[in-house]
Amino acid sequence: MARVGSEGTACSICGAAFPAVAKALGLCAACARAGGGAAEDLVKRAHAKARAAFGLSPFPPRGGTGRACRMCGNACLPAEGERGYCGLRVARDGGIRHLAGTSRGAVVEFYHDPLPTNCVADWVCAGSRDRGRNNLAVFLGACTFDCLFCQNAQFRMLTACLAPIRRPEEIAAAADEATGCICWFGGDPSAQMPFALRASEIALTSGRSKPRICWETNGSMHPGFLRRAMDMSLSSGGCVKFDLKAFDPNLHLALCGVSNRMTLENFTYAASRVGERPEPPPLVASTLMVPGYVEAEEVGRIASFIAGLNRDIPYSLLAFHPQHAMRDLPATSMRQAEECREAALGAGLTRVHVGNIHLLR
Ligand code: SF4
Ligand code: SF4
Repeated sequence: MARVGSEGTACSICGAAFPAVAKALGLCAACARAGGGAAEDLVKRAHAKARAAFGLSPFPPRGGTGRACRMCGNACLPAEGERGYCGLRVARDGGIRHLAGTSRGAVVEFYHDPLPTNCVADWVCAGSRDRGRNNLAVFLGACTFDCLFCQNAQFRMLTACLAPIRRPEEIAAAADEATGCICWFGGDPSAQMPFALRASEIALTSGRSKPRICWETNGSMHPGFLRRAMDMSLSSGGCVKFDLKAFDPNLHLALCGVSNRMTLENFTYAASRVGERPEPPPLVASTLMVPGYVEAEEVGRIASFIAGLNRDIPYSLLAFHPQHAMRDLPATSMRQAEECREAALGAGLTRVHVGNIHLLR
């Protein structure tokens, strides 16, 4: 018999509605993990609907005959005239044409945030307590994932308009004498890494300030870009913040629309470099505690993966606020947060933190 939960929507496969099922997905976490044809259909339908409003392809295209894009793990192979999953590349004459996200220009906005600021790494990074200085927050207007719970969904408007386009020199010039750190986020840096790397290089060599270079990412970029990002963060005192959404591949596909294979491979590489500068930590992991989907069980899996690489990698558990296609879910509860924290510690991690506590209900 179907269990009925307080949120009302039932899983279309098993009928369960507890602890929470998002209407947009119509699939509970257990059935998402189990996969299979019916679950795949629901997942495809949910993401196609969420993306159609922004003119984005429902899944990474595979129907082309020319060259695949290798900028990120999606490895899109669009047919002539079709765009890649991120919306920034199009197939033309057998090759891939970049509409933005090269070393010459990107879809991006930026602003200065006085330090200390709300940063995933603020509990381990001395830079976040640099009073009197600022963080140059660079918001990239595209992403290589399609998280139904996206907490920064407005980036999709920038992708749809392909605007504003900025040059790397403009971003570098915004790093003034008071800029203590540059944080690349969005959207996600993964779709526009050549730009972010170029702008960071200019900022570091311009002589106006020596900012820490930091990244907040889903970690799906080409490994070559990650290597350069790690080099920059290690030498500047910054860090790479990987958001690990789910460990189970089917659950990740259901929630984020694409595979987590590249993210996990890239995280493994990044962890291999922690010993080059143990403090302040150059690598920080985070996970959004999505009610019904990313609860203690999934957090335990993610934490075991991290602990298997290095038990001392800081792990931040972030409270979820109902957003985007998962507006009907409740916010993370105190109890869920505590269970997730215990699961992470139980997996062997030594540095676990709960962030966004003002959002906990
Ligand atoms: S950057 Fe990634 S998502 Fe965008 S077209 Fe290339 S492979 Fe696809
Ligand atoms: S990776 Fe981040 S910005 Fe991209 S869709 Fe997911 S939550 Fe949104």
